[in-house]
Amino acid sequence: MNIDRSKELFNRAQASIPGGVNSPVRAFKSVGGTPIFLKKAKGAYLYDADGNRYIDYINSWGPMILGHAFEPVVKAIQEIAEDSTSFGAPTELEIEMAELIKSMVPNVDLIRMVSSGTEACMSAIRLARGYTGRNKILKFEGCYHGHADSFLVKAGSGVATFNIQTVPGVTAGVANDTLTAPYNDIDAVKQQVDQHKGEIAAIIVEPVAGNMGCILPQPGFLEGLRQLCTQEGIVFIFDEVMTGFRLAKGGAQERLGIDADLVTYGKVIGAGMPVGAFGGKLEIMNHIAPLGNVYQAGTLSGNPLAMIAGFTLLTHLKNNPTVYKELEEKGTYLEKGLHNVLKASGIPYVINHLGSMISIHFSNKPVIDFASASTAKNNLFNTLFHKMLDRGIYLPPSAFESWFLSNALTYEDLDKTIEALDESLKEL
Ligand SMILES: *Cc1c(COP(=O)(O)O)cnc(C)c1O
Repeated sequence: MNIDRSKELFNRAQASIPGGVNSPVRAFKSVGGTPIFLKKAKGAYLYDADGNRYIDYINSWGPMILGHAFEPVVKAIQEIAEDSTSFGAPTELEIEMAELIKSMVPNVDLIRMVSSGTEACMSAIRLARGYTGRNKILKFEGCYHGHADSFLVKAGSGVATFNIQTVPGVTAGVANDTLTAPYNDIDAVKQQVDQHKGEIAAIIVEPVAGNMGCILPQPGFLEGLRQLCTQEGIVFIFDEVMTGFRLAKGGAQERLGIDADLVTYGKVIGAGMPVGAFGGKLEIMNHIAPLGNVYQAGTLSGNPLAMIAGFTLLTHLKNNPTVYKELEEKGTYLEKGLHNVLKASGIPYVINHLGSMISIHFSNKPVIDFASASTAKNNLFNTLFHKMLDRGIYLPPSAFESWFLSNALTYEDLDKTIEALDESLKEL
């Protein structure tokens, strides 16, 4: 595949943008080579600066659940832009958005809009601290909750991709208030809770982890956390930035049948516009300003472009529950196909999959946490990534990322993907 124009753009970008990109994973550092510069996308396909077409398994890291440039969303943005792109004052559309979300997801009495998943998670943590009067939080190794200071401890995803252990710029004080435990290890959590009795404000978790590849919660793990949080007066936060409106209309809470106290959203909620949100139970949300004294604000929060994009996409998802059934079937079909060619290759592998989230690890043991994800043969993934890219399949450029399916994918696209994997594996 000719990517001369991308190479040219990448060289040029590095003179004015750090590393040539505005978010690190885009730089292809772990897989090596030149990041593809994109020009446009429609449905399941991306088109790069050289005019090459790719089948997209990143989907802007999740938001494009119905494919790119989904017409109702594009139209709605165009129409509303005429009436101003931001007011910094309340609008009826924000109420409609909040009401819509409340009608779709469990356990959200009040919801506040922000502009990114990072902001949503950092605000939820502040709220949990303000509400409980405690300082510490507990997160899981390999879970990513955005780039706020508190979360950059064993943070998975980009941080793992770049093999950064402790992040310069995060003070020891902040790092000390962040406790960690291995994903799926309820005993380790109990130990931390015992050791820091009455000090932990919140446990935050990706209910299905997507930032160390896709990793499923083992039976009893989330239930155990829920019970422990209730017992110890700890705020239980589901980071549904990835899973929200993706695993089900009501996200992981609905899909897995677990109640959270606070929930954070991003990605799908904005249909590709910068949107995040945090919400939850009234008793806790009551403490956020201006209702309470936990401060949180945003000049562009709830701006009309962001709101109409999210509102239009979520409305479509709410009114067309078949989308989730179709995504489920496509995910299962893809998994089966991947299994077939991987088995034939003789290379030890693990596929983790739930709904429209899926990933491959080259490992001969189950991948259930960050340690098992890290000890997989990720170099093999990196080689495979380029072979797939050459065949027009755009996978996330790191073994530490989940693939995201969009419902714009056809079975023909899935077959092509499986075939490309078969060919790629034969070249390894
Ligand atoms: C992407 C992601 C975030 C951060 O969202 P941004 O919009 O990139 O700030 C937080 N949590 C999870 C689980 C994510 O996948």
